[in-house]
Formats: sequence, C-alpha cells, structure tokens
Amino acid sequence: MIGKSVTLADLPLRADLVGRSPYGAPQLDVPVQINTNENPFPPSPALVADLAASVGAAAVELNRYPDRDAVRLREQLAGYLSRATGVPLLTANLWAANGSNEILLQILQAFGGPGRRAMGFEPSYSMHPIIASGTQTDWVPFPRRADFTVDVDAAVAAIEEHAPDVLFVTSPNNPTGGSLTLDEVAALLQAAPGMVVVDEAYAEFSDQPSAVGLIDEFADRLLVVRTMSKAFAFAGGRLGYLAAAPAVVDALLLVRLPYHLSTLTQAAALAALRHGQETLASVAALVAERIRVQQALTEQGFSVVESDANFLLFGMFADASAAWQAYLDAGVLVRDMGIPGYLRTTIGTPADNDVFLAASAELAPVPD
Ligand code: PMP
Repeated sequence: MIGKSVTLADLPLRADLVGRSPYGAPQLDVPVQINTNENPFPPSPALVADLAASVGAAAVELNRYPDRDAVRLREQLAGYLSRATGVPLLTANLWAANGSNEILLQILQAFGGPGRRAMGFEPSYSMHPIIASGTQTDWVPFPRRADFTVDVDAAVAAIEEHAPDVLFVTSPNNPTGGSLTLDEVAALLQAAPGMVVVDEAYAEFSDQPSAVGLIDEFADRLLVVRTMSKAFAFAGGRLGYLAAAPAVVDALLLVRLPYHLSTLTQAAALAALRHGQETLASVAALVAERIRVQQALTEQGFSVVESDANFLLFGMFADASAAWQAYLDAGVLVRDMGIPGYLRTTIGTPADNDVFLAASAELAPVPD
C-alpha cells in the first residue's frame, strides 16, 4: 500500500486532537445488527420506486449545483414537523443538512469555538463532545443520577456556575432512553445564558411533547434538532434537520458549506417524506416490540432502564465487554457504550428481537 511509511504520529496534527479516538460503532456483517439505533424495516417498494424515479429525474440536471438553501425540502420538513407537533412552522424555521450530526457541527461552528464552552448531561450521545472537540469548544460534562435521569435543580445550578455557550439536552436520551418533560426543558432554558440544543433524534418514539412548542417563548436560544435516520428509516440517506427562529437559521447559513445538500439527497429526502405516513407506521410496531423486549429482559432477571426511544439500556453484567462478545458469538451485534455493567440493544424486527432474547437468556444475571 502506498503511503504506509507515514503514521498518525508523524503528522502535524492539532495538539488537542492527539490521542483522541474517532467515533467508532463497529460495522460487522452478522445476522442480527442491533447496535446503531436504526429502523430495522427497509423502505417500502413504493418508496424505493418513487425515490429511484425522483433521483433519475434530478440526474438530468446534475451539471448544475443544487438548490443551496434546499427550500422545497425545508418547506416539506416544516409541514411534517408542524403536523407532528401542532406548532405552526414555516420554511424559514427549518434548516437541513447531511444527518443531524452535520446540523450539530454547524451549531458549534456558529455558537461554539475557541474560548467557548458546551455542556451536556452524561452519559449521552457521544458525538456531542466529539464535535465540541473538533470545533475547539471546551466540553463540560455534567453527570446524570445513578438511574440516568437528570437532576434538574442540580443542572440549573451547574448551568449558572459554568455559563455554557451551548447546552445539549438529549430527549429521549441516547444511550439511556429516558426523556425530559417539557417543564424540565423549560427550566433548563430559563437558566441557560447561551444556546440550547434539544436533540430529539428519537422524538417520534416518545409520548413526551416536542420542545418545538417552546421555540416561540425561547426564540433567541432554542434549537430543536431532528433526524430522518431513525423513525423515517432513512439513515443511509443522511438527512437531519432543525427547527428554530429564522434568525438562528440565518446564523447557520454563515458557516454551512455552499451546496452541502446534494441534488440527489434533496430529491431522495423529498421522496422519503412523500411516503412518510407509511414509513412512520413502523413506529408503533417498534414501540410495541420495545415493551415486549423490556418485559422479557426483566423476566430474565435484567434491570432495564425506562426508555421511550427505539433502544434499551440493560444490565447488570459482571463484565459488559465479555457479554458483548458473547452476544457477537451468538450472531447478535449490540452496543457497549462503556457504561460499567450495561449494554444497549436497538429494537429490531420481531425475529431479530427473538434471537437477541434467546442469547440474553444464556447471559442472564444469576439471582443471588
Ligand atoms: N443525535 C442523537 C441523540 C443520536 O443518537 C444520533 C445517531 N445515533 C444522532 C443525533 C445523529 O444521527 P444522524 O446524523 O444520522 O442524523
């Protein structure tokens, strides 16, 4: 292989990146892949046909740059989110990018950066601190309680002490699964001196109302981030979005790369939205499966963290990484988040979940 004589240590890497690890959920080809919170149901044949035709039609104009502001897509996303939340949103309230990860990056490029700090309630989504470090934003972790809920009074005190420029609130939280109530989110917003990102990647699976309903009241600081990767079963399409006051969207325009959303991505996402109703029917099925898996794990002797997302954090394992390997040996890829004693499983198809539960029965904690 050419270039092999150079190692990472030979490169003039930014000092703050030395020794860091990249995001790395394993991508292994095993029969049951339930480690990245994807929707296990593939797109319908009707969606695939519509998407192929739309992308084909768009291909005729690929010599031209895409719509830089993705106006039609944002208009359709505004329609979806308005219907889902009951909050009247317009195109100017929406922004879209290649996955919500890119939205999060743009937020930190605009509102974080050197000399600024971001705060989050850990354990939470591992990309929040990774994107903070990539943008040279200081990261202030604030611990959740032992049961993984947020002590809101203590969090308010920590916000007042650290005055974060950006506060991350993940609801439902990944990898633990619980949500904050709207009152709790409002209390955090009230205390926050900077921007507050409510990451609602799993909102469709939850009964809690969306923080979108708080945008008007907290227009100068609230950003609600969503994705089509989970409920919309569009992880491979890479489409994330955000709802906020129009001025917040204007701020993100200052840092986005021109033409960041390709013509093909925009056409594909529009097709996925046209078929949204049929795709979102999987949400109820996945919630029912989550309840079934939670009950079965509990009966097997596991302790399962209350979740209103499409995954469950469960334990206690004497050695979580050995248990992760034992699942893998049984053809089941779950996730070891580095939380001592716990693993996370994504809710798969009923057949996936049966294989997972059969493997779990072999690993169940021995009652004392
Ligand atoms: N936020 C949270 C809480 C997530 O769990 C994920 C994906 N695991 C994302 C954002 C990013 O998703 P995507 O970039 O696919 O939209």
